[in-house]
Amino acid sequence: MCYKVVERFSVCKCVYFQHSIDPCSAYGQRGHSVQEKTVLVGYACPRHSTRGSSSSPSSGGWPDSGYSSSKGSYR
Ligand SMILES: [Zn+2]
Ligand SMILES: [Zn+2]
Repeated sequence: MCYKVVERFSVCKCVYFQHSIDPCSAYGQRGHSVQEKTVLVGYACPRHSTRGSSSSPSSGGWPDSGYSSSKGSYR
């Protein structure tokens, strides 16, 4: 069985790094599949790590949508 090591963040399960496939002798045959081996790394990715939790209201999220309707020059 071939193995492919995928490193994931242990907090948010996002992919941190995907190694190349380590093929066995049956690699490429029909119906042969690659076993994915998950290695957890001990933190969250920058998108999901909430370091420095500043003063944001409870129903948070990214302040991304809602500012796009009027005159697109204010960015
Ligand atoms: Zn294999
Ligand atoms: Zn993440």
